[in-house]
Amino acid sequence: MKVNPSVVDTIGNTPLIRLRQASELTGCEIYGKAEFMNPGQSVKDRAALFIIRDAEERGLLRPGGVIVEGTAGNTGIGLALVGNALGYRSVIVIPETQSQEKKDMLRLAGAHLIEVPAVPYKDPNNYVKLSGRLAEQLAKSEPQGAIWANQFDNTANRRAHIETTAPEIFEQTDGRVDGFVSAVGTGGTLAGTGMKLKELKPDVKIGLADPLGSAIYNHYAHGELKAEGSSITEGIGQGRITANLEGAPVDMAFQIPDEEALPICYDLLEHEGLCLGGSSGINIAGAIRMAKELGPGHTIVTVLCDYGTRYQSKMFNPAFLREKGLPVPGWLERKIDIPV
Ligand code: PMP
Repeated sequence: MKVNPSVVDTIGNTPLIRLRQASELTGCEIYGKAEFMNPGQSVKDRAALFIIRDAEERGLLRPGGVIVEGTAGNTGIGLALVGNALGYRSVIVIPETQSQEKKDMLRLAGAHLIEVPAVPYKDPNNYVKLSGRLAEQLAKSEPQGAIWANQFDNTANRRAHIETTAPEIFEQTDGRVDGFVSAVGTGGTLAGTGMKLKELKPDVKIGLADPLGSAIYNHYAHGELKAEGSSITEGIGQGRITANLEGAPVDMAFQIPDEEALPICYDLLEHEGLCLGGSSGINIAGAIRMAKELGPGHTIVTVLCDYGTRYQSKMFNPAFLREKGLPVPGWLERKIDIPV
């Protein structure tokens, strides 16, 4: 029988999907790693599982213990689901600007959700710092103990990509992968996958795809952590070099405006049946830019980070797009033209 003992065992081993239009446009083979097919519908299930297993191995988590995290949502969803399966509770601190759908999912999964104003990292009330302090308090008061997942600086996060994502990509492409492109939230995906792919194939090119409002592009392109502009994408963008991003082997850096990324998501849904969140659009736009730099004939892999329904009220909502001054895809407002 082919049976998984629990949902936890279904994390990872996601398929690679050929992105037809991106490939045809560039003459390269561009593939997306379908991370939305993880049980929590995002790439962050991998990090959540590795962080929890690491804490268990260190004896920090006991049955019934509490996992505390500051997250844009996806890591929280992963932690809550894996926590439920393994017998832990979760407390999630989230900036109130994140999508309603992610907050609803967190509540559905039984997480104790704390919404806080979105303030910069240097502010003591930043969601990441608040979650760290909360974990410290709960570690004292909770009889079963509490841990701070600390996805930004806990390198169990990038180990998930060193041990699983990169070897999967290498194997799935028969070692033909020439380039890998990823955006950065914590940096776990870019650094972990990048480091291991370089080990498996030293001449592979690693590309950063960065949204506006993030400082990482300027760091790699111009040597200074400087941000400009803004983006409606969620879960990506960073203002500092996290422990997970430290040492990421970045060969190329691309800065991608929403106007370039979002139409890719709309086209993929309309013509290829792929429903993806905005960070996937940033990634695919980055893969297309890398393909143009490397020239035709190369194999480039990027990450399809999460499922689009998570942003139905935002990037798939004409009123929201208009309010942000972003173009509205025609089919989003068109009636279906099948006479019934
Ligand atoms: N896309 C989405 C939608 C995410 O939630 C995240 C994680 N915050 C990422 C991309 C980036 O992943 P990482 O944290 O590994 O950099």
